[in-house]
Amino acid sequence: MAETEPRADTVTMDKIVSLARRRGFVFPSSEIYGGLGSAYDYGHYGVLAKNNVKARWLEAMVQERDDIVALDSAIILNPSVWEASGHVAGFTDPLVDCRTCKLRFRADKLEEEHCGRKPSKHPGGTPECDLTEARQFNLMLETRLGAVEETGVAAYLRPETAQGIFVNFKNVLQLARRKPPFGIAQIGKSFRNEITPGNFLFRTREFEQMEMEYFVPPDKADQWYEYWVKERFDWYTRYGIRESHLRIRPHEADELSHYSSATSDIEYLLPFGWSELEGIANRGSFDLTQHTEHSGAKLEFVDSATGERYVPHVIEPAGGADRAFLAFLVDAYDEEDVAGRQRTVLRFHPQIAPVKAAVLPLIAKDERMVTKARALYEGLRRRHIVEYDDNGAIGRRYRRQDEIGTPFAFTIDEQTLADDTVTVRDRDSLAQERLPIDGVREWLDDALERPWHTPKPG
Ligand code: ATP
Repeated sequence: MAETEPRADTVTMDKIVSLARRRGFVFPSSEIYGGLGSAYDYGHYGVLAKNNVKARWLEAMVQERDDIVALDSAIILNPSVWEASGHVAGFTDPLVDCRTCKLRFRADKLEEEHCGRKPSKHPGGTPECDLTEARQFNLMLETRLGAVEETGVAAYLRPETAQGIFVNFKNVLQLARRKPPFGIAQIGKSFRNEITPGNFLFRTREFEQMEMEYFVPPDKADQWYEYWVKERFDWYTRYGIRESHLRIRPHEADELSHYSSATSDIEYLLPFGWSELEGIANRGSFDLTQHTEHSGAKLEFVDSATGERYVPHVIEPAGGADRAFLAFLVDAYDEEDVAGRQRTVLRFHPQIAPVKAAVLPLIAKDERMVTKARALYEGLRRRHIVEYDDNGAIGRRYRRQDEIGTPFAFTIDEQTLADDTVTVRDRDSLAQERLPIDGVREWLDDALERPWHTPKPG
């Protein structure tokens, strides 16, 4: 086993952004046109890793339970939905302009923003700063439906996926034959005209949400709220996020939305500070009552056995796929010295890693090795995302796989030709062992299921 020397957490946002670009996880959007502020495109490894984040969420929320069903509602809904939900009137952030530097800031987040002339200060922090009074700015992005500009109907790109769930409450209740407690889970794009997007994927105007609305009898709401806060915290640690970098932050009374009796954020310690990955809210009966009033459809539960009727209360875990991906990426990033050379490695949980294994013929010019390696690779790729690589020195190929977080590499060498065994190299420990080539598929299946803990210090 090679000599390794772990180091303290050295991650910075600059390193993350540059690795994400260099290895094709995430690119600035429309780059050849100079980009579009705070918009990003996911490249190959980014797509694979973010898909894994979403798949693990769906597994935990739908597949492993019998009380939650899936939904994929439209992005553009009847505009009345947003009247009823309160978004037209109240989905606003307070905005201030600086007359000196001409920049706009969120009035409630000034301590997180940088003055346009003196970035070391917050807006309002220098004698030259000249901030306007705060005014409310609606975050919903408008669009027009219909071929003719003038007669088209104004509509909104959804700012959250949750309302698509509430307006389908009746469908699911009847067609999926559910009774409270039950939930509806949805993953999809949402759009917000953020005043100050930034911090890479953390705050963008277009992003993906993973939301679940859990409908419960009113007297059980507090209990289910506590349950979901814990359940969602455990999901992040289950997939390897260090507990030392994760916390639950209950909202203060003055932070709560008027309809919420309790909200907690799950926060991760990103390089720019503790930041919300997900919010869990006890929303009471607000949403179903509002949509009943505005649509005329009675959104309630009637127990056919007892005749009891009530408007269920809602517990909502609302997370972001991009923020979760960013947290997994930051938590995975590591640097260490291996026998005097530095290596950068993404220590992803195997279930999150974009590529599960690499298959590498030691000598690319040796046709016998290439044939065996290709056969192994083609067998494995029917079950998993795996990569075949015969390009360059073996050390460089290992480094490349380390940088995209591939947990295992199978190498075909001279000995394989003699006895049909391969070397498997472990990304984290760098330990190598030999396996019969016929057993690789089963070995990999097992290895991907094993519990995994990061070797990074807490
Ligand atoms: P913030 O206070 O950071 O603006 P929020 O409390 O408004 O977030 P919610 O409305 O609770 O966020 O949305 C649920 C989740 O959706 C957030 O926890 C986050 O993961 C994700 N999300 C919200 N806004 C954005 C955004 N602009 N970019 C990326 N993800 C977002």
